[in-house]
Amino acid sequence: MQSQCTWTCCQMLGCLSFKPSTLFAFSKHLRSTSSDRLWTRGCSLRVANYPSFMATLSTVSTEKDAVSSQNDSAQKPQPPLQVAKRLEKFKTTIFTQMSSLAIKHGAINLGQGFPNFDGPEFVKEAAIQAIKDGKNQYARGYGVPELNSTIASRFKKDTGLVVDPEKEITVTSGCTEAIAATILGLINPGDEVILFAPFYDSYEATLSMAGAKIRCITLRPPDFAVPINELKSAITENTRAILLNTPHNPTGKMFTREELNTIASLCIENDVLVFADEVYDKLAFEMEHISMASLPGMYERTVTMNSLGKTFSLTGWKIGWAIAPPHLTWGLRQAHAFLTFATSTPMQWAAATALNAPDSYYIELKRDYMAKKEILVEGLKAVGFKVFPSSGTYFVVVDHTPFGLDNDIAFCEYLIKEVGVVAIPTSVFYLNPEEGKNLIRFTFCKDEETLRTAVERMKEKLRRG
Ligand code: GLN
Repeated sequence: MQSQCTWTCCQMLGCLSFKPSTLFAFSKHLRSTSSDRLWTRGCSLRVANYPSFMATLSTVSTEKDAVSSQNDSAQKPQPPLQVAKRLEKFKTTIFTQMSSLAIKHGAINLGQGFPNFDGPEFVKEAAIQAIKDGKNQYARGYGVPELNSTIASRFKKDTGLVVDPEKEITVTSGCTEAIAATILGLINPGDEVILFAPFYDSYEATLSMAGAKIRCITLRPPDFAVPINELKSAITENTRAILLNTPHNPTGKMFTREELNTIASLCIENDVLVFADEVYDKLAFEMEHISMASLPGMYERTVTMNSLGKTFSLTGWKIGWAIAPPHLTWGLRQAHAFLTFATSTPMQWAAATALNAPDSYYIELKRDYMAKKEILVEGLKAVGFKVFPSSGTYFVVVDHTPFGLDNDIAFCEYLIKEVGVVAIPTSVFYLNPEEGKNLIRFTFCKDEETLRTAVERMKEKLRRG
């Protein structure tokens, strides 16, 4: 009964507009009916087709972060939570939620993709030096010149493309800002943008902020291949862009040359742009990474986005960039100028040092990650999961259904509380959560001992249902 009430409130809060006083009543009700709740995008109509998902939600974790932390006194009236319509269906990100739960339950965090080891000394030293050298005032809006040049050199080495560091490269606060600047700077309200589900959570939220209309193509296991005919029929005269992520988070899929060629010819034929998120390009294990921009005729219609965080185990530095021809750079720079204006100056200097790392750095990085991947993948197989092949990224997706739980949320809850390991439920990465209910994502960007301990815990405590 209680869960039904809470669900009704969530539905209403997520889908309708209320006067503040009405919202206030609901927010009070929410606070009094749920204690340890996992917020998901479930508070929207889409979940009407996902009843078991909602039933589970009523028993899961905390909304504290969203509601009550400012005031522990349940008696004192709180103002209602407020959010603009463009963001009202989104909740605290799943990564934040799962990392908080990891801390709360003392569980091993194989959820959020951040290394539990530090970035390289030479890069940290370069940041300290830059600060000491007084490189501490605003950077040039589109990037410290040395960093723009280094990014251009790396892009040439990786793709063979020669770009103008001054006119075609924009340094941003992580790839997430590159994505936001690209979408806000180049997409008009009502434009259609094609996404491949499962997709990284910021894509949908940012497209929603831009007023874009999302067309979603689902990549299905075991190989998450692009359903070309579905893609062809999703393209209309209103399609402005395809947002593509290779290597792909969360599945580890890498788009094949054949798939990229087909997408490229569809884009050229229909005058569609590509926004390519390639942040895992240096974590390509089973095949060669191919940049969409490097395919014939594609550079002039592609924005390539990347960052420092994954490759240099410095996810907290938030240095990213967007590479695009001048006519597309114009729009994204306009957005960047008013989103953040410029990015941390000393970190940009250090990023330039990082990107000048010798090839041996990347070889070693890959070797280390392949060893980690082996530990996790073999371990998960031994535990009894159905593990889908991951060619790149530091993620692997598995089917949890051998263990008999209803869906990914229920399974992740069980895994945290009873086993002491955190994974990410993948239903949050789909427009229709049903499509991800059998899948969960693990990361292997943790030291080997942590990965082994997590596997041992699962071997010991997980029993097939
Ligand atoms: N990219 C990271 C992941 O997929 C998370 C980033 C974030 O927490 N927003 O796990």
